[in-house]
Amino acid sequence: MEVTATVIDRKIGATIIKYEGSFTVHTYVASILGTSAHIIEGPEHLLIVDSQFLLPYALDFKKYIDSLNKPIQYMFISHSHPDHYLGLAAFPDVKAKALKETVREINDKGSELLEAQKEVWSEKMPTDIVLPQAFNLGTKNAMTIHLDGLDIHLRKYLKSKSEVQLTFYVPALKLHIIQELGYNNHHLFLNKDMNHWADILRLLLDKDVIDIYLLGHGLPATAQVLVDNILYLEFANKLYKTKDMTSDKFKIALLDEYPQMEGKELIDIYLLQLFIEG
Ligand SMILES: [Zn+2]
Repeated sequence: MEVTATVIDRKIGATIIKYEGSFTVHTYVASILGTSAHIIEGPEHLLIVDSQFLLPYALDFKKYIDSLNKPIQYMFISHSHPDHYLGLAAFPDVKAKALKETVREINDKGSELLEAQKEVWSEKMPTDIVLPQAFNLGTKNAMTIHLDGLDIHLRKYLKSKSEVQLTFYVPALKLHIIQELGYNNHHLFLNKDMNHWADILRLLLDKDVIDIYLLGHGLPATAQVLVDNILYLEFANKLYKTKDMTSDKFKIALLDEYPQMEGKELIDIYLLQLFIEG
């Protein structure tokens, strides 16, 4: 798309990058964990993807959305990680939607995760979980919605056997919001199916011509980010499959290979799961 990109610094430490074209796309990146949420702004209405994590960022994201002075036509939660849905507490009047698998997952594990996060972040955490409304893409795992005449293709990808990711492909803008499938200069939140995840990224690279990918962590990026993520997954998978690998050795080797990368805290969150049997 023909765009001018503007970077806006928020007092809170978050960054917004704005791509202005026929439709304006805004990405809000929190300085903690680099958690990203996005806005597609049409002439009349807004579409929002994800809600942020810590309450101060969620409230600031909401404030920014309000400053655009247009009604939210759609708000989606793209997957079941708490750093993307807990911020819904800042949007009491918005009916957010998520795939039914995502809603089920939040329902099953959300309260336990929230309590654990309260120990770490105390008052920065919301008191309760706001559950999005469940919807289904149907048998084709795809659906097209319209925002002020702009076609937005919703697709579902299985990142692992149990992790579902909703994506938003906008052909007219050559833009794809893939959230947790891609990370820009942040450590990937790994699961045991690293090969499968890399295969999905290869599939995405082959399928469409995209100028900008909007991601779950870090700033938007070109297709190179998917190539980088594939290499990261290949490295991590090889390491993981090494004989007598332990969680400590795994973390040290990963930090050693990627010393500049941000989001080191993400490693500690998944590490335990990764080295549990079964
Ligand atoms: Zn995330």
